Amino acid sequence: MSYREFELTMPTGYTEDDLRQALAKLTGLRDFSYHILLKSLDARRKDRIVWRFRCAVNSAELQVEAGSRPEAKAPLVFADSGRGRRVLVVGTGPAGIFSALYLARCGFAVQVVERGSTVEQRRKALQDFEQGAAFPTANNYAFGEGGAGTFSDGKLSSRTKGISSERDFIFETLIAAGAPAEIAYMTHPHVGSDLLFGITSRLRETLMEAGVQFSFDTVAEDLLLTGGRVSGLRTNKGDLDADFVVFATGHSAFDTLRMLMKRDVPFRHKNFALGFRAEHRQETINRAQWGRPILAGVKAAEYRLAAQHGEVPVYSFCMCPGGTVVPAGATADVSVVNGKSDYRRDGQWGNAAVVAGVNLEQLLTRPVSAPEALDWLEKLERSFKSLTGDYRVPAMTISDFLHHRSGQELPESSYPLGLMAVDMAELFPVPLTEALHAGVKEFCRKLSGYDNGIILGLESKTSAPVQAMRHPEKMYCGYENLFLAGEGSGWSGGIVSSAADGLRVAAALVRHG
Ligand SMILES: Cc1cc2nc3c(=O)[nH]c(=O)nc-3n(C[C@H](O)[C@H](O)[C@H](O)COP(=O)(O)OP(=O)(O)OC[C@H]3O[C@@H](n4cnc5c(N)ncnc54)[C@H](O)[C@@H]3O)c2cc1C
Repeated sequence: MSYREFELTMPTGYTEDDLRQALAKLTGLRDFSYHILLKSLDARRKDRIVWRFRCAVNSAELQVEAGSRPEAKAPLVFADSGRGRRVLVVGTGPAGIFSALYLARCGFAVQVVERGSTVEQRRKALQDFEQGAAFPTANNYAFGEGGAGTFSDGKLSSRTKGISSERDFIFETLIAAGAPAEIAYMTHPHVGSDLLFGITSRLRETLMEAGVQFSFDTVAEDLLLTGGRVSGLRTNKGDLDADFVVFATGHSAFDTLRMLMKRDVPFRHKNFALGFRAEHRQETINRAQWGRPILAGVKAAEYRLAAQHGEVPVYSFCMCPGGTVVPAGATADVSVVNGKSDYRRDGQWGNAAVVAGVNLEQLLTRPVSAPEALDWLEKLERSFKSLTGDYRVPAMTISDFLHHRSGQELPESSYPLGLMAVDMAELFPVPLTEALHAGVKEFCRKLSGYDNGIILGLESKTSAPVQAMRHPEKMYCGYENLFLAGEGSGWSGGIVSSAADGLRVAAALVRHG
């Protein structure tokens, strides 16, 4: 069977039959099979918005020169070298899940420790919280099975270079757990909060089939140290022994990061970003991007905006088309927002982070240690909470923010726990407010109707403020059998790059452990 790749465009409302017919016309073939390699929306011309495809066509009728089939990428290798040695993996976010799966397939005896409960119990706790129950300490938008991105838009794009083998494995595993097959070829793949729930539950089954044990409602509180090595963990449920420990605790677990720092695990502070969420009627975004409120065959319009204020980058991040803004703080005393959407992205609002880059040493004009960076950020997150005194969040209209007016009138919002009209310009250090102001002004020039939205704060979780210092080759941190993976380590940001980092850390453990 010969193989060749073809590129073509289709109208947005196309059907599978239409695509097949277009391929038949393009190739001149009658008997062929095909699969999509790449699908992306081209909205550069609003009067001609099309899907662009690259398709692989197989047919005995094809005349092909030798070598035109692309080389298969190197798949991940699972060396059978674990010999039943015990690994404790802390955290069930993408980094923890994928490192546990990899280690189990390499023959290690893996126990996963998670401070929150199963995703089913977690969802119930979140529903109760949004209906007025007390803040759920162990099961919130940051903590609990599945990690921070479980109730999210489930965007699976990543700009991290050199992770194509890991990415293929991650996508195959997610598809086997119920993610739509299209994530393998969409340029902007996403799964949505509703599908992630089932995927998280099925991933647990996949790991258990591979021999992984789960301990939910179990908090890793301290390292047990013997002879310069980590011999296990102290948890709220008792001590656990281990030959290796992998921390994949995300970047909201400040208690865990502080414990690791206290135990001399080396960290440095790093640049991060801060700002707010901007929320608009989704129809406003659709009109700005497509020139019309709906477009057959496309769910909801996205945007990605960037501006530069002197040396400070300001950019939109993690847009949730058709989604809602959620209270994403990890502890009861902070206020942080983030966003989520369902697979259909069919809600009436869309939101995205608007953040400015922060170099804390420049901002504070003095050297800053990693613990100080955590303290500084936590203080800011707490100040947003103490301003409202409950889980309402400070907000103002974009128009008021731009015109330096203290906002009073606030339109409706998707945020479930209420807004408080506050002058957001007062809540950040002056250089940050100035950068955010310049950025938002530029965004209004770039996207028609952007000034009709509101801003809600605080958005502080786009990237971690600290980074663990790893051995360059063996990837351990501080102790030869201690590994830190994912966003909490400061080496990744987002679902896919954190999962890939979990795989790479696990592979280093297998190679050198
Ligand atoms: C609401 C929201 C929406 C998001 N949307 C997207 C998106 O669409 N796309 C995207 O790419 N990224 C998104 N992100 C970011 C993404 O979720 C994170 O980058 C990613 O989850 C990081 O993975 P991780 O495994 O490193 O850590 P996490 O996912 O944060 O997982 C850490 C886990 O460790 C557990 N834990 C912490 N401390 C302890 C302890 N001491 N003992 C035991 N367990 C512990 C936590 O309960 C948690 O389950 C979103 C984040 C949020 C909050």
